[in-house]
Amino acid sequence: MDETTKLKCPMPDTHNRLNQAFSLFENILEDYQDILRFTSALNNLIQNLRNVTFVLQKELAHTDGFFDWYSKKQTEMQDDDVLKWLIKARNYVVKEGDLKKKSIARVRLKNHFDQDLLEMELDPSFSTEKIAKDFCKQSTLKIQKNLEEQTIIEIERIWIIDEYPQAEIIDVLIYCLGVITNLVYLCHEEILNTNFLICENNLYIDPLKDLMVTLHNKIRKGRITRINYKTREIYGDISEIINRPDTKTLKEAQKRYGDKQKYLLSLMDKSNKNIPFNNISYHIEMAKHLFNTDGYLVPMAFLYFPDRIPMHITLGLDDPAKKYLIFEKLSETVEETGCEAIIVVTESWMGTMPKKNEEYIPAYIQKKKEFIWIIGATPDKKEEYKMEILRDKNGKIKLNKEEKLSSERNYSLDRIYKNWEIKKKLKKGLL
Ligand SMILES: [Zn+2]
Repeated sequence: MDETTKLKCPMPDTHNRLNQAFSLFENILEDYQDILRFTSALNNLIQNLRNVTFVLQKELAHTDGFFDWYSKKQTEMQDDDVLKWLIKARNYVVKEGDLKKKSIARVRLKNHFDQDLLEMELDPSFSTEKIAKDFCKQSTLKIQKNLEEQTIIEIERIWIIDEYPQAEIIDVLIYCLGVITNLVYLCHEEILNTNFLICENNLYIDPLKDLMVTLHNKIRKGRITRINYKTREIYGDISEIINRPDTKTLKEAQKRYGDKQKYLLSLMDKSNKNIPFNNISYHIEMAKHLFNTDGYLVPMAFLYFPDRIPMHITLGLDDPAKKYLIFEKLSETVEETGCEAIIVVTESWMGTMPKKNEEYIPAYIQKKKEFIWIIGATPDKKEEYKMEILRDKNGKIKLNKEEKLSSERNYSLDRIYKNWEIKKKLKKGLL
């Protein structure tokens, strides 16, 4: 953001307190696995969230219109069960002691879906990494030999508070943070006539991202360990695997793909109408050009928006297990940005499905047919194209003309569709 356009904060005491709450949330990622540090961080967080409203009332006590405005907000907040619980929890923490809590481990098998395997109460001193390794060693899971290497076991630790067993405690507090942030936001806008987003103290709110979803996804990373069932490799944060092009690689690309790129860019529809489908032909031509130049294609996802330029994510699909994690990361980004129009361009293998009594062999092991695959998807529509990659005896490659497919189910997009469905239901008030 341009520094010169920032506005002086009209309620700095409150806004600073709110920022402190945000920074406590960011730190909780490191404290989540340690009972002592987690308890202390939790107590701080609960008190800090509650204090924002105390400071707010004090700071604006003499501001015109505030008293009536806040009384109305207070009535609304008194109807909110989660906030009611927050007030009780804060009083308990200040006057009586720590909230009683349980550490629970959830074990999941991960492929393009999350299959829950078991849930158990857990000695808080066991690390999720130890549990993951023990689980793989002792597991009696029946997994086909040739699928073991692409099987990921995920161990998630969650803290549940006895007085609020409905949800993981930090998710409950993220909800409270959302409500309180909205209160401070409205106070800037409605009482003090200041644009909150360009307030000098706005360090945490990105108007292009959903605050609660983004924070939830980020903190969840501190709660989980993922391990490859066969190799026992522990997977780190997948966003570190997704490499972004820097200026140097962009320059090299410019040189490599040359003038054709200009022509290709001219195929791009910039009207933002009928996104992303109006740009499928552009992505098809681009994929052909890149493949013909390089002999391979870096898989990418493009997120389109009605009011801004598209985002792209490199899907570095170097091993089949990581592919699940990268598609999960994609689905998180789609959720965080509220995107409803994506294009995925990737290479994929196609194989034959097993006959009766035959073992299922993954397509990338069968290596029957290889394709470039382009999918455009919105919550209500999907369009797919495939181009077959042909290799002759000398290893020379040729790309067949694109073929439109009748829409099949794409397991890799299942998570995205699941989130879109939830959003649709929320909009209709069904949830
Ligand atoms: Zn401010």
